[in-house]
Amino acid sequence: TAPQLAKAFIGNVWQPTVKSTFYEITPTFNLDEPRMLARLSANENPYGPSPTVRTAIKDAISLGNRYAHRDAAELIELIAEKEGVSTKHIMLGPGSSDLLEKVAFVSFPAGGNIVSADPAYMSIISTARALGAIWKPVKLTADYAHDLNGMKEAIDADTKLIYVCNPNNPTGSITNSDQLHQFCSDASSKVPVFVDEAYLEFLDDSQSHSMVNLVADGADVIVARTFSKIHGMAGLRIGYIVAQPERIASITDKVRSTMGLCSTSLKGALASFMDEAFLHECKSLNSSCRKYLVEEITSLGYEVIPSYTSFVLFPIAMNGQAFMKGMYEEGVSIRVFSIEDQPFCRVSIGTMEEMEYFVEVFKKVTA
Ligand code: PMP
Repeated sequence: TAPQLAKAFIGNVWQPTVKSTFYEITPTFNLDEPRMLARLSANENPYGPSPTVRTAIKDAISLGNRYAHRDAAELIELIAEKEGVSTKHIMLGPGSSDLLEKVAFVSFPAGGNIVSADPAYMSIISTARALGAIWKPVKLTADYAHDLNGMKEAIDADTKLIYVCNPNNPTGSITNSDQLHQFCSDASSKVPVFVDEAYLEFLDDSQSHSMVNLVADGADVIVARTFSKIHGMAGLRIGYIVAQPERIASITDKVRSTMGLCSTSLKGALASFMDEAFLHECKSLNSSCRKYLVEEITSLGYEVIPSYTSFVLFPIAMNGQAFMKGMYEEGVSIRVFSIEDQPFCRVSIGTMEEMEYFVEVFKKVTA
């Protein structure tokens, strides 16, 4: 579209996309206004952080306030143990957004291209484009999985990074883990593969879907995780990547990895990792609220993309901006994306009350 093209060339820096019809319809108002009754636009966990995290944070503050190095080392040790790698394979960041950005900075010092699905979570792609790289989007398959053959074909001599988001945002869909494993294993012998697993924990048998074992086996794969989703710590800002020690060193040689971290958040993250009962509870509440929402929306005649995450995506039958405004005026924040000129609503899974309120407002706005 014209606005997209204009955005792509601002300051003559942003590089064009090879071809994508996907973009976010940006609201003309503030979705995070305090008056909002149901904030369903950022895929936050409505229950978190867990009571043990809240206590750990209070205790951490009462211990004084030093830089985060020691707490970071403690959390890195725990993550390394959990993921079956060494501490040199781990880097923490204030949210995985920060790590997506840092990986983009070291991957695109001189242009090149980034291959990903289309639609995908755009953070690393936007940074890559701002640095002068070109986005090579590869459409998802008809069942919203990554088109791994198509992605393989899109890789060329200028490809500096492959980005895979699994489960994918904004579609909520997954890609078969055996096929993805094979793809990452093959592709990473040529180009580093970044696998964003922000929503992994919402999957049943989640560990079997993770690509982290490829890192343990020596592949040039970078796996990203976050405490913002199932852990309910979005505002506390902690995420991490697991990658080859040389990849981690290529970032930490340039930036001190622990300076941007908050020591109280690190203490909270440690406590959250231990609180498996809370994580289990969040997953099960997410499943039941998602089931309710999908049934309600489906019964109204909409086709919801099967979701494995803490949000769902479905096409709507009205103007995207008008829909978003109508919802906003009733205190409900959601996001709207355009895929091939079709507006889609992405709604985060909130509490059951929020889901009921969403359905009530949705019926009113679309009537
Ligand atoms: N990756 C994906 C796929 C996401 O959806 C998000 C948050 N919306 C992030 C990364 C970034 O999350 P955070 O910076 O809070 O870790």
